[in-house]
Amino acid sequence: MWSMPKKNEKIAVIGGGIAGVCTAALLSLKGFQVHLYERSNRLGGCSGSFRRNGYEFNIGATTIAGLKEGFPVQKILSKIQTKQKIVNQEPSIIVLTPKGLIKRSSSLEETIEEIQRVFPNKGNEKFWRKVYSTTHDILMFEYYNNLSSMKECLKSFFSLKELIIKHGYSFLTPAQEGLKKYFQYLDNDYYDFMESHVKIVAQSTIREVNFLTLLLSLGYPFTGIGYPVDGMDNFINELAKNFSYHLNTEVTSISTKNNGYLIKGVFGEEFYNRVILALPFLENFSIIEDIKLKKYLERYQILKSDQSAIVLYGVIKNFSPEGKFYLKVLKKPLLFTDSKYLFCSFNNFFNGKENLTILTASCHTKISKWKDLIPEIYNIKKITLGEMIKEQITEAFGINKTQIIDSFIATPETFYKYLRRRSVGGIPITRKNAFWKIPSNFTPFKGFYLVGDSSFCYQGWIGVSIGVRNLVENFHEKI
Ligand SMILES: Cc1cc2nc3c(=O)[nH]c(=O)nc-3n(C[C@H](O)[C@H](O)[C@H](O)COP(=O)(O)OP(=O)(O)OC[C@H]3O[C@@H](n4cnc5c(N)ncnc54)[C@H](O)[C@@H]3O)c2cc1C
Repeated sequence: MWSMPKKNEKIAVIGGGIAGVCTAALLSLKGFQVHLYERSNRLGGCSGSFRRNGYEFNIGATTIAGLKEGFPVQKILSKIQTKQKIVNQEPSIIVLTPKGLIKRSSSLEETIEEIQRVFPNKGNEKFWRKVYSTTHDILMFEYYNNLSSMKECLKSFFSLKELIIKHGYSFLTPAQEGLKKYFQYLDNDYYDFMESHVKIVAQSTIREVNFLTLLLSLGYPFTGIGYPVDGMDNFINELAKNFSYHLNTEVTSISTKNNGYLIKGVFGEEFYNRVILALPFLENFSIIEDIKLKKYLERYQILKSDQSAIVLYGVIKNFSPEGKFYLKVLKKPLLFTDSKYLFCSFNNFFNGKENLTILTASCHTKISKWKDLIPEIYNIKKITLGEMIKEQITEAFGINKTQIIDSFIATPETFYKYLRRRSVGGIPITRKNAFWKIPSNFTPFKGFYLVGDSSFCYQGWIGVSIGVRNLVENFHEKI
C-alpha cells in the first residue's frame, strides 16, 4: 500500500488528457502535491467528450482496452478506484469483412473458430495461439524504462531480459516474414483484415512493422475491452477527484529557475519543483523556453508523424445495433484518406423523448491532405468525404440515410483547433521507431518528465497506461 505523507514540493502536470489525469491521480495518492493545467474547458483530451446540438460525443477514444486482470489499464484503475462502472464488451469488436462477419472476443478458442469460419487456413490455430500468448506476455510485464543516463539505459535493457529471450525473434523479424512462417498463402481479404488491426493499434502498416507489433495489434481484442457506463466525460472527471486542476488554463511557457521550473499562462507565473509534460510536445516545442531542454526535446522531432484521423460524428434514430464497436474493412481506400477501413462505435442516448444512437466513425488520413487548403476546397473535401462515410455506414448496418438526423466531420485541422495537435495517433509503432528511440518518461533534466502518447509507451489507453505506471512507480520521493 502506498504511504500518504503530504510532501512539500510542488508538481505541475501540464495537459489534462488521460496521461495527465492518471499520472496526477496516482501521484496525489502517493502523497505528492499535484496541480494540473488543461487549456480546454474539459478534461480528457483525445479521450474526452464534447457537446453539440444537445448531444454528447466522444472526441476520439471510445474503447478502453487492457481491462483484463493484470493488464496495464486494469492495474491503474484498481489503484484510483472509481465508482464509475466500466462495462466489459463481448464480443470486443465485430469485424465486417467482404468475406463475412467475425466476432472478435476476448476468448482465444472462440476467436480461432470465428477466423477459421471466414478465412479457413491451416496456419490459423498455431498463429492465433501465438497472438494470444504474446499479447499476455507483453502486457502483463512490469516495465522499467528510464533512458535519462547511460546507467539507467543499461538497467532498463537488463530489465527486459526475460522478454528479449522469449520475444526477441518476433521483434527482429519483419511482420511479412513472420507471417510466412505460419501461412503458406494469405487471402487478400485476410491480409486486409490483419492490416486494419495494425492501422488502428499501431498507426502503421504490416509492411512497416515487426512481427511482434503485428501480433500485439491482432491481440488488442484479447485484452478486455470496455466502456464507461456513464460516458467518458464522467469517468475522467471521477479519475480527477483527488487532485486540483485548472481548466481553460493554457500554459504558454516553461523555463528553468532555482532548481525548478517557472510556468506561465493566463494565471501569471508559478514556480514548481517538478514538471510533468503530458501534452503532445512534438507539436508544442514553442512553450519550452530553456534552450538546453528545448534542444533535447527537438532531437525527437524526427518522430513527428503525418498520421491523423478523420471522424464522422452522427446521431441515428430507430437503430439498435447488436454490438458497440465495429471495424468495417472496405474493398478500397476512402477518398482523401489512406484507410481501407472504418472503426464505428455506437452509444445510446435518450433525448427525453426517444432513444437515439450516437455514432463515431473514424479512419486514418494524412495531415498533409488537409493542411493549407483554401476554405472552399477544404469544405468540399469535408462534405464529400462525410457523404462517402455515411454511405458506408448505411450499407454496413442496413439503415437509411434519413435515419442519420445529425452529422458533422472532424479533420486534422479540427483536432488542432481544439486539442493543439494534428497528429492524433501518437508515434507510429514502426520498425524504424523502436521503443528505445522514443522519448522516455524520465529525461536527463532533473525534475522534468514526459508522459502520454508522444513518449513511452505509445498511444491509446494501453500504451499511455504503461508509460504512466512506469513514471509513477519509479518516481523518486526526492528529486
Ligand atoms: C479518432 C481517435 C480514435 C481513438 N480511439 C481510441 C480508442 O478507441 N481507444 C484508445 O485507447 N485510444 C484511442 N485513441 C487514442 C487515444 O485517444 C490517445 O492516444 C490518448 O487519448 C492520448 O492521451 P494523452 O493524454 O497522451 O494526450 P491528449 O489526449 O492529446 O491530451 C493532451 C491534453 O493537453 C492539453 N494541452 C495541450 N497544450 C496545452 C497547454 N499548452 N497547456 C495546457 N494544456 C494543454 C490538451 O488540450 C489535451 O487535453 C483514439 C484517438 C483518436 C484521435
